[in-house]
Amino acid sequence: ATPTAVMVGTGVGATNGILMKGADGLERAGQVTILVFDKTGTLTVGNPSVVGFRIFGNIGDEEYLKIVAAAESQSEHPIAKAVLKFAKHKLGFEGYEEGAQNGNGMNLPAAEEVEIVPGEGLRCRFNGAEVLIGSKKLLESAGVAIVSDVAAYVGQVQRDACTCVLVAMKGEVMGSFAITDPIRPEAAGVVAALSRMGVQSHLVTGDNWQTARAIAAECGIVSVHAEVSPAGKAGKIEELKAPPMRKTLKGTVEVARRAAPVVAMVGDGINDAPALAAADVGIAIGAGTDIAIEAADFVLMRSDLEDVVTAVDLSRKTFRQIR
Ligand code: ADP
Ligand code: MG
Repeated sequence: ATPTAVMVGTGVGATNGILMKGADGLERAGQVTILVFDKTGTLTVGNPSVVGFRIFGNIGDEEYLKIVAAAESQSEHPIAKAVLKFAKHKLGFEGYEEGAQNGNGMNLPAAEEVEIVPGEGLRCRFNGAEVLIGSKKLLESAGVAIVSDVAAYVGQVQRDACTCVLVAMKGEVMGSFAITDPIRPEAAGVVAALSRMGVQSHLVTGDNWQTARAIAAECGIVSVHAEVSPAGKAGKIEELKAPPMRKTLKGTVEVARRAAPVVAMVGDGINDAPALAAADVGIAIGAGTDIAIEAADFVLMRSDLEDVVTAVDLSRKTFRQIR
């Protein structure tokens, strides 16, 4: 395209709240064949809330909620904020919104040795006793047994497209939270529009398989990659970018005359930054974290997924002009 065409394209993007960091990104957007969506905060609105909780262990509601609130007040994760808000509500401390770090004024116990485990949850201690809050995977890798009634509850929550957070104390499951995050209203329409444009949608998430599949189904996405660590997300992108290979007697060879896929990633979280950087086109949700925005080629200022379609379309129009 001529410099003028690129300038016009960039300007049209800006009017639509699509910020581009360079002409390269604009050019590649039109060539994208695979578009990978992060789940939380990208396909979903990123404002999770607790819809239920269950206590399995021998502990009172108040003590359980206070310990969880104290621990989650140390995490920036949207799930942590949802759990903290819910616990405050249940404990009657709604007034203590901001600045209530570590439960200032709520008389929460002190969480010690807090360790955030990206993509899984967190680990800490209360009076020396270990507390784990997060995914089933987090608990399992710490050797906590998931007894059958816990497993049944987790399965039920996940089939409802909710995320199940588990809480373990002293090596035993104490309780859980069911968390829901509404799917963006435009998500399914965007996936359908991309498909008509020859772009295949994928879902990649750190969340569990069942929840991921349930959300993907609601959006019309067939290709799902779940329980993927932040580093794993970038690895997935690299895998998808690789040219199609074929096994022969002489070994694995590239399939002739078939171009390697052009892969775009849309994400919002710190977790997504490596994948955004690894993708041919990185697209950050404007409402997302600064780290994701920095790693991306495009920023969707309106945080509207329709703008992904607009960006691909705009690129195709801009770069067709010169041919
Ligand atoms: P996504 O890839 O969908 O944005 P993440 O990788 O951030 O999700 O998190 C994956 C999973 O780890 C969550 O679904 C949740 O089960 C668990 N998790 C992460 N952080 C926390 C936390 N602070 N409290 C509870 N669970 C957490
Ligand atoms: Mg996310």
